Amino acid sequence: MKICRFDDNRLGLVREPDVLDVSEALDVLPALRYPIPPCDFLIANLDRVRTRIAALAPNAPRKKLAAVRLLSPVANPPRIINAPVNYMKHHAESQADKGISFGKDVKTIEEYGLFLKSSTALVGASEGVALRFPDRRNDHEVEVAVIIGKGGDRIPHHLAMDHVAGYSIGLDMTVRGTEDRSLRKSIDSYAVLGPWLVTKDEIEDPGKIGFSIAVNGELRQKSDTSHLIFDIPKLIEYASSFYALHPGDVILTGTPEGVGPVKPGDIMHCEVDGVGAMDVKVRAAP
Ligand code: MN
Repeated sequence: MKICRFDDNRLGLVREPDVLDVSEALDVLPALRYPIPPCDFLIANLDRVRTRIAALAPNAPRKKLAAVRLLSPVANPPRIINAPVNYMKHHAESQADKGISFGKDVKTIEEYGLFLKSSTALVGASEGVALRFPDRRNDHEVEVAVIIGKGGDRIPHHLAMDHVAGYSIGLDMTVRGTEDRSLRKSIDSYAVLGPWLVTKDEIEDPGKIGFSIAVNGELRQKSDTSHLIFDIPKLIEYASSFYALHPGDVILTGTPEGVGPVKPGDIMHCEVDGVGAMDVKVRAAP
Protein backbone atom coordinates (compact mmCIF):
# COMPACT_ATOMS: atom_id res chain seq x y z
CA MET A 1 0.00 0.00 0.00
CA LYS A 2 1.21 3.48 -0.92
CA ILE A 3 -0.05 6.09 1.55
CA CYS A 4 0.39 9.81 1.12
CA ARG A 5 -0.59 13.06 2.77
CA PHE A 6 -1.68 15.82 0.45
CA ASP A 7 -3.22 19.28 0.13
CA ASP A 8 -4.83 20.35 3.41
CA ASN A 9 -3.65 17.31 5.44
CA ARG A 10 -5.75 14.88 3.39
CA LEU A 11 -4.87 11.18 3.56
CA GLY A 12 -4.40 9.46 0.23
CA LEU A 13 -4.10 5.96 -1.16
CA VAL A 14 -1.82 6.16 -4.18
CA ARG A 15 -2.89 4.33 -7.33
CA GLU A 16 -0.65 5.97 -9.90
CA PRO A 17 -1.42 8.24 -11.67
CA ASP A 18 -4.28 8.86 -9.24
CA VAL A 19 -4.69 9.42 -5.54
CA LEU A 20 -7.80 8.22 -3.70
CA ASP A 21 -8.94 10.50 -0.91
CA VAL A 22 -9.29 8.20 2.11
CA SER A 23 -9.09 10.92 4.77
CA GLU A 24 -12.04 9.35 6.60
CA ALA A 25 -9.67 6.57 7.67
CA LEU A 26 -8.13 9.05 10.11
CA ASP A 27 -11.34 8.74 12.18
CA VAL A 28 -10.03 5.42 13.56
CA LEU A 29 -7.21 7.23 15.37
CA PRO A 30 -7.81 7.41 19.13
CA ALA A 31 -8.39 10.86 20.62
CA LEU A 32 -5.20 12.65 21.64
CA ARG A 33 -4.65 13.80 25.18
CA TYR A 34 -1.86 15.94 26.52
CA PRO A 35 0.99 15.08 26.88
CA ILE A 36 1.36 13.45 23.49
CA PRO A 37 3.71 10.44 23.56
CA PRO A 38 6.84 10.57 21.37
CA CYS A 39 5.46 8.98 18.21
CA ASP A 40 3.73 9.76 14.96
CA PHE A 41 0.11 9.01 15.69
CA LEU A 42 -0.75 7.78 12.20
CA ILE A 43 2.22 5.41 12.03
CA ALA A 44 1.58 4.14 15.58
CA ASN A 45 -1.92 3.09 14.45
CA LEU A 46 -1.05 2.12 10.90
CA ASP A 47 -2.62 -1.35 10.95
CA ARG A 48 -6.03 0.02 11.95
CA VAL A 49 -5.74 2.86 9.44
CA ARG A 50 -4.79 0.44 6.65
CA THR A 51 -7.82 -1.74 7.30
CA ARG A 52 -10.06 1.33 7.09
CA ILE A 53 -8.30 2.59 3.94
CA ALA A 54 -8.94 -0.74 2.22
CA ALA A 55 -12.64 -0.50 3.12
CA LEU A 56 -12.94 3.09 1.88
CA ALA A 57 -10.95 2.65 -1.33
CA PRO A 58 -13.69 1.31 -3.67
CA ASN A 59 -15.83 4.43 -3.20
CA ALA A 60 -13.13 7.01 -2.52
CA PRO A 61 -13.01 10.19 -4.63
CA ARG A 62 -10.09 10.29 -7.08
CA LYS A 63 -7.73 13.07 -8.06
CA LYS A 64 -4.68 13.16 -10.32
CA LEU A 65 -1.47 12.98 -8.28
CA ALA A 66 -0.04 15.67 -10.52
CA ALA A 67 -2.79 18.02 -9.33
CA VAL A 68 -2.22 17.68 -5.59
CA ARG A 69 0.38 19.07 -3.20
CA LEU A 70 2.29 16.20 -1.59
CA LEU A 71 3.25 16.62 2.09
CA SER A 72 5.60 14.47 4.14
CA PRO A 73 3.98 11.04 4.57
CA VAL A 74 5.04 11.14 8.24
CA ALA A 75 3.73 14.34 9.82
CA ASN A 76 5.33 14.15 13.27
CA PRO A 77 8.38 11.91 13.38
CA PRO A 78 9.85 11.98 16.88
CA ARG A 79 13.30 11.95 15.29
CA ILE A 80 15.12 11.88 12.01
CA ILE A 81 17.96 9.47 12.69
CA ASN A 82 20.81 9.77 10.20
CA ALA A 83 23.62 7.53 9.08
CA PRO A 84 26.77 9.55 8.31
CA VAL A 85 29.25 8.19 5.73
CA ASN A 86 27.52 4.84 5.28
CA TYR A 87 28.78 4.15 1.72
CA MET A 88 32.50 3.57 1.07
CA LYS A 89 32.54 5.50 -2.22
CA HIS A 90 30.97 8.52 -0.48
CA HIS A 91 33.74 8.21 2.11
CA ALA A 92 36.33 8.37 -0.67
CA GLU A 93 34.77 11.43 -2.32
CA SER A 94 34.40 13.19 1.05
CA GLN A 95 38.10 12.63 1.80
CA ALA A 96 39.11 13.94 -1.62
CA ASP A 97 36.87 17.03 -1.70
CA LYS A 98 37.79 19.89 0.66
CA GLY A 99 34.38 21.40 -0.06
CA ILE A 100 32.96 18.46 1.89
CA SER A 101 35.70 17.61 4.42
CA PHE A 102 36.88 21.15 5.33
CA GLY A 103 40.31 19.68 6.01
CA LYS A 104 39.04 17.12 8.49
CA ASP A 105 39.94 13.45 8.28
CA VAL A 106 36.65 11.87 7.22
CA LYS A 107 35.80 8.60 8.93
CA THR A 108 32.87 6.23 8.40
CA ILE A 109 29.76 5.30 10.34
CA GLU A 110 31.86 2.73 12.22
CA GLU A 111 33.46 5.65 14.09
CA TYR A 112 30.76 8.33 13.89
CA GLY A 113 27.78 6.22 14.87
CA LEU A 114 24.57 8.13 14.14
CA PHE A 115 23.43 11.72 14.36
CA LEU A 116 20.05 13.43 14.64
CA LYS A 117 18.54 15.92 12.28
CA SER A 118 15.72 18.03 13.69
CA SER A 119 12.30 16.68 12.73
CA THR A 120 11.19 20.31 12.26
CA ALA A 121 13.33 20.38 9.10
CA LEU A 122 10.88 17.98 7.44
CA VAL A 123 8.87 18.81 4.31
CA GLY A 124 7.11 16.85 1.59
CA ALA A 125 7.98 16.60 -2.09
CA SER A 126 5.75 19.47 -3.22
CA GLU A 127 6.98 21.87 -0.56
CA GLY A 128 10.50 22.12 -1.96
CA VAL A 129 13.80 23.10 -0.38
CA ALA A 130 14.53 26.72 0.59
CA LEU A 131 18.25 27.48 0.64
CA ARG A 132 18.99 29.65 3.66
CA PHE A 133 22.61 30.42 2.72
CA PRO A 134 22.58 30.39 -1.09
CA ASP A 135 26.17 31.71 -1.19
CA ARG A 136 27.44 28.58 0.57
CA ARG A 137 27.60 25.10 -0.88
CA ASN A 138 24.25 23.33 -0.42
CA ASP A 139 24.32 19.64 -1.38
CA HIS A 140 21.73 17.04 -2.19
CA GLU A 141 22.08 13.67 -0.46
CA VAL A 142 19.52 11.17 -1.72
CA GLU A 143 18.89 8.32 0.71
CA VAL A 144 16.54 5.42 1.29
CA ALA A 145 14.31 6.38 4.23
CA VAL A 146 13.08 3.71 6.64
CA ILE A 147 10.02 4.48 8.76
CA ILE A 148 9.86 2.71 12.09
CA GLY A 149 6.42 1.21 12.75
CA LYS A 150 6.83 -0.61 16.03
CA GLY A 151 8.94 0.90 18.80
CA GLY A 152 11.52 -1.05 20.70
CA ASP A 153 14.64 -0.88 22.83
CA ARG A 154 17.83 -2.91 22.22
CA ILE A 155 16.31 -4.57 19.16
CA PRO A 156 18.31 -7.63 18.08
CA HIS A 157 19.47 -7.81 14.47
CA HIS A 158 17.33 -10.82 13.56
CA LEU A 159 14.12 -9.06 14.72
CA ALA A 160 14.98 -5.58 13.39
CA MET A 161 12.88 -5.75 10.22
CA ASP A 162 9.75 -6.51 12.29
CA HIS A 163 9.97 -2.89 13.47
CA VAL A 164 9.78 -1.36 9.99
CA ALA A 165 6.50 0.17 8.78
CA GLY A 166 7.72 1.11 5.33
CA TYR A 167 9.96 3.14 3.10
CA SER A 168 10.13 6.51 1.39
CA ILE A 169 12.61 8.57 -0.56
CA GLY A 170 14.69 10.79 1.71
CA LEU A 171 16.69 13.89 0.91
CA ASP A 172 19.26 14.85 3.54
CA MET A 173 19.97 18.38 2.35
CA THR A 174 23.18 19.79 3.75
CA VAL A 175 24.93 23.13 3.88
CA ARG A 176 28.66 22.34 3.87
CA GLY A 177 30.86 23.97 6.47
CA THR A 178 32.68 23.54 9.76
CA GLU A 179 29.63 23.67 12.03
CA ASP A 180 28.22 20.55 13.62
CA ARG A 181 26.21 18.28 11.29
CA SER A 182 23.03 18.58 13.35
CA LEU A 183 23.02 22.35 12.78
CA ARG A 184 23.93 22.31 9.09
CA LYS A 185 21.37 19.65 8.25
CA SER A 186 18.47 20.94 10.36
CA ILE A 187 17.68 24.08 8.39
CA ASP A 188 13.93 24.33 7.78
CA SER A 189 13.05 22.26 4.66
CA TYR A 190 16.43 20.44 4.62
CA ALA A 191 14.76 17.05 5.21
CA VAL A 192 12.49 15.93 2.39
CA LEU A 193 10.42 12.77 2.75
CA GLY A 194 8.21 11.51 0.00
CA PRO A 195 6.50 11.23 -2.26
CA TRP A 196 4.58 8.76 -0.05
CA LEU A 197 5.14 5.87 2.30
CA VAL A 198 5.29 2.39 0.79
CA THR A 199 4.43 -0.30 3.29
CA LYS A 200 7.19 -2.83 3.76
CA ASP A 201 5.29 -5.72 2.18
CA GLU A 202 5.83 -4.04 -1.22
CA ILE A 203 9.64 -4.04 -0.98
CA GLU A 204 10.95 -7.44 -1.94
CA ASP A 205 14.57 -7.10 -0.79
CA PRO A 206 15.50 -4.20 1.52
CA GLY A 207 19.10 -5.34 1.10
CA LYS A 208 19.09 -4.28 -2.54
CA ILE A 209 16.95 -1.19 -3.12
CA GLY A 210 18.13 0.86 -6.10
CA PHE A 211 17.85 4.64 -5.94
CA SER A 212 19.05 7.74 -7.74
CA ILE A 213 18.88 11.50 -8.11
CA ALA A 214 19.19 13.71 -11.16
CA VAL A 215 19.45 17.50 -11.01
CA ASN A 216 17.90 19.33 -13.98
CA GLY A 217 18.03 16.02 -15.87
CA GLU A 218 21.70 15.29 -15.09
CA LEU A 219 22.25 12.05 -13.16
CA ARG A 220 24.22 12.77 -9.96
CA GLN A 221 23.85 9.78 -7.63
CA LYS A 222 22.87 6.17 -8.37
CA SER A 223 23.42 3.23 -6.05
CA ASP A 224 21.60 0.58 -4.08
CA THR A 225 21.38 -0.48 -0.46
CA SER A 226 23.63 -3.52 -1.00
CA HIS A 227 26.53 -1.03 -0.74
CA LEU A 228 25.58 0.19 2.75
CA ILE A 229 28.31 -0.24 5.39
CA PHE A 230 25.61 -0.61 8.10
CA ASP A 231 22.62 -2.23 6.39
CA ILE A 232 19.03 -1.51 7.45
CA PRO A 233 18.73 -4.14 10.22
CA LYS A 234 22.14 -3.14 11.56
CA LEU A 235 21.08 0.54 11.65
CA ILE A 236 17.98 -0.42 13.66
CA GLU A 237 19.95 -2.64 16.00
CA TYR A 238 22.63 0.03 16.46
CA ALA A 239 20.27 2.98 16.97
CA SER A 240 18.17 1.05 19.49
CA SER A 241 21.30 0.05 21.41
CA PHE A 242 21.53 3.76 22.36
CA TYR A 243 17.88 4.74 22.64
CA ALA A 244 14.43 3.19 22.31
CA LEU A 245 12.86 3.64 18.90
CA HIS A 246 9.33 5.01 18.55
CA PRO A 247 6.65 4.62 15.88
CA GLY A 248 7.28 7.25 13.21
CA ASP A 249 11.00 7.59 13.78
CA VAL A 250 12.59 8.06 10.37
CA ILE A 251 16.00 6.60 9.59
CA LEU A 252 17.86 8.18 6.68
CA THR A 253 20.18 5.34 5.82
CA GLY A 254 23.04 7.29 4.24
CA THR A 255 24.02 8.72 0.91
CA PRO A 256 26.21 7.19 -1.80
CA GLU A 257 28.84 8.90 -3.95
CA GLY A 258 27.88 11.78 -6.22
CA VAL A 259 26.72 14.41 -3.73
CA GLY A 260 26.84 17.87 -5.23
CA PRO A 261 25.58 21.41 -5.02
CA VAL A 262 22.17 22.78 -5.95
CA LYS A 263 21.05 26.34 -6.52
CA PRO A 264 17.73 28.15 -6.58
CA GLY A 265 15.71 27.10 -9.62
CA ASP A 266 17.09 23.56 -9.73
CA ILE A 267 14.79 20.55 -9.85
CA MET A 268 15.90 17.39 -8.08
CA HIS A 269 14.34 14.23 -9.54
CA CYS A 270 14.67 11.41 -7.02
CA GLU A 271 13.75 7.76 -7.46
CA VAL A 272 13.70 4.75 -5.15
CA ASP A 273 12.83 1.38 -6.68
CA GLY A 274 9.55 0.05 -5.34
CA VAL A 275 8.65 3.45 -3.88
CA GLY A 276 8.39 5.80 -6.85
CA ALA A 277 9.74 9.15 -7.95
CA MET A 278 9.49 12.75 -6.81
CA ASP A 279 10.53 16.12 -8.19
CA VAL A 280 11.70 18.58 -5.56
CA LYS A 281 12.26 22.24 -6.39
CA VAL A 282 15.03 24.35 -4.91
CA ARG A 283 14.45 28.04 -4.11
CA ALA A 284 16.10 30.72 -2.03
CA ALA A 285 14.65 31.23 1.45
CA PRO A 286 12.92 34.60 1.78
MN1 MN B 1 23.12 12.02 4.72
